[in-house]
Amino acid sequence: MPPPLSIRFSPEGIYLPEIDLWLDPRRPVAHAWFSHAHSDHASGRPTLVLATERTLELYRLRWPESTDVVQTLEPLRFGVPVEWKGATLTAWPAGHIVGAAQLCIEADGYRVVYTGDIKLNPPICGITTTVVQCNRLIVESTFGLPIYHFLDQTEARRRILQFAQETLAESATPVFLGYPLGRGQEIAHVLATAGIPTSVHGAMHKFLPIYEAEGYAFPGVEAYSAKNGRERALVVVPGMRDYLEARGDVRVAYVSGWAALANARTRANAHELIPYSDHADFSELLDLVAGTGAEQVDIVHGYAEPLARILRDRGYNAQAAIAQMERLEEGEA
Ligand SMILES: [Zn+2]
Repeated sequence: MPPPLSIRFSPEGIYLPEIDLWLDPRRPVAHAWFSHAHSDHASGRPTLVLATERTLELYRLRWPESTDVVQTLEPLRFGVPVEWKGATLTAWPAGHIVGAAQLCIEADGYRVVYTGDIKLNPPICGITTTVVQCNRLIVESTFGLPIYHFLDQTEARRRILQFAQETLAESATPVFLGYPLGRGQEIAHVLATAGIPTSVHGAMHKFLPIYEAEGYAFPGVEAYSAKNGRERALVVVPGMRDYLEARGDVRVAYVSGWAALANARTRANAHELIPYSDHADFSELLDLVAGTGAEQVDIVHGYAEPLARILRDRGYNAQAAIAQMERLEEGEA
């Protein structure tokens, strides 16, 4: 008997026809699951959105014009199943950013888990991933090559603080580059809770209340302006780098999964490289796949083809489901 849930992969997203549900679609659809609020996952305008409460809050804040046109179900709570067109849907934490969730879809005892973007090791800000047993796993592979090995959050915190303190002690300005949602808040949280005066880019600052509601403090953090940028650590978007370098003695730290690459220093032209990510590294991905017990593994994003080969070599039924449809940058605006 065929499984009760089939899955269609396309550049427009992932679709489950038996229950008429899209996963992170890229075009307007009727019913969509948003795994998290990064723009390459949640930018569409479905008629009805299913997501966690924090993801819905972040989505509305990012795209306020969607508030009136997009209907939402009651937000999914972690571990609490809801019925949907003959299947059971359950959200589970995915670590990646605040609100990020995996979706477990169960019908007739058959389980599909869609990870969305996921981090297995505990994040600085976010809920640690639950590994969910399933028959079929749809997993991302942003960093699905053995060259990617990241620091755990304890070591990443230590490196972030050390760079900021040493730079300030030399009367220079430590600048951390990050995208507006996720890494920027994590770096600001580490700096501010250690007592380092910190300013963040306005595009990051607007999300702080949602992170605070989730329990992460940002004591004394201000939105960056030219007036308050001195003698403080700055967390800004990469586009501000040239402007800041023209204004004074700044030193740039690059906190990213890409910092694990051998050529990262040349590529990023950074004073400090801290290989920490809100995505799983290679060994975390292998541990996650093994932990689910999945019989079939579909890989999306990034290094889907090579990771599928590596998993097949290890005995998995694995395929690159959406080859090369995704950005190869981690940059999620
Ligand atoms: Zn993401």
